[in-house]
Amino acid sequence: MTSNAITKRGTQNLNKPSKMFKSSVYNLQEASKDQVQQFLNSFDTVLSDCDGVLWLENNAIPGSADAMNYFRKLGKKIFYVTNNSTKIRSDFAAKAQQLGFEASQDEILSTAYLAAHYLKGIGFNKKVYLLGSNGIAEELKSVGIRHIGVGPDPVQPDFKAMVPSDLDPEVGAVIVGFDEHVSYPKLMKAASYLASEECLFIATNTDERFPRAGSGYGIVVPGTGTLVRAVETCSERKALVLGKPHDYVRRFIESSGLDPARTLMIGDRCNTDIEFGVRCGFQTLLVLTGVTSNKDLEKIRNEKKPPLPDVVLPKLGDILSLIPS
Ligand SMILES: [Mg+2]
Repeated sequence: MTSNAITKRGTQNLNKPSKMFKSSVYNLQEASKDQVQQFLNSFDTVLSDCDGVLWLENNAIPGSADAMNYFRKLGKKIFYVTNNSTKIRSDFAAKAQQLGFEASQDEILSTAYLAAHYLKGIGFNKKVYLLGSNGIAEELKSVGIRHIGVGPDPVQPDFKAMVPSDLDPEVGAVIVGFDEHVSYPKLMKAASYLASEECLFIATNTDERFPRAGSGYGIVVPGTGTLVRAVETCSERKALVLGKPHDYVRRFIESSGLDPARTLMIGDRCNTDIEFGVRCGFQTLLVLTGVTSNKDLEKIRNEKKPPLPDVVLPKLGDILSLIPS
């Protein structure tokens, strides 16, 4: 990508958080060495999304690990903030380490963890019907919350013959996360539990799609938002969404005591990561290795529809070549 591909907005005020709408975007590659140094000095905490920023599926994005490890070496506090609900925090940490990132479980904030933390926090003591995968199941188990629903629930010839006694009367919440086994019976059960007003309705995130590696371009991998919308439609209810850019994760992070003005949010999606950063008053860096493309960015800018990031890089690792010696 050429530097011209990202519209320049100016270089002033890199050390200040910026909540206001920008009419254009600044390409960090066009910054002088002094400005890059000023940028690096302007934050103490780095929150980074994972899929599409640090890795794609099981492959590290070149340079991302070195960039994150460099931030750590500078003394920045690091947190990995992911809407992905398919793994427990220790598995995320293990994956990050395998791909070359220094990371510990305590630095991982995933939506599976948030879902368990939320229910534990409100003293939930019933059972969860989980339209999701093992990541959420394990996090629920670790806080002592019972669950049902994980794994295949295939369509039977007489599937419409489901009766109330097929439902578990102990269920008091439905959680929707990513579930590769989604099926019509699962949607029926989720909506039937939610027919009771007392039943809580929680979703991990509403991402439309998963980012894909180069060989996968042209194939759309539907994200959790697809399943959340399906359950919202048939239950005629709205889910409490825990992940970025929503309020719960914001309050969770703010309670950790970080200074928003000196926090950098790195992401690959404008409508989750950057929106989240803007809502929190963080500085924002968009990388173009995941979902939001340069074309999307230009469209957002031309249509004047925020959020736009404060700075942009083609990929996170590009920051390494900009570091003043
Ligand atoms: Mg991402």
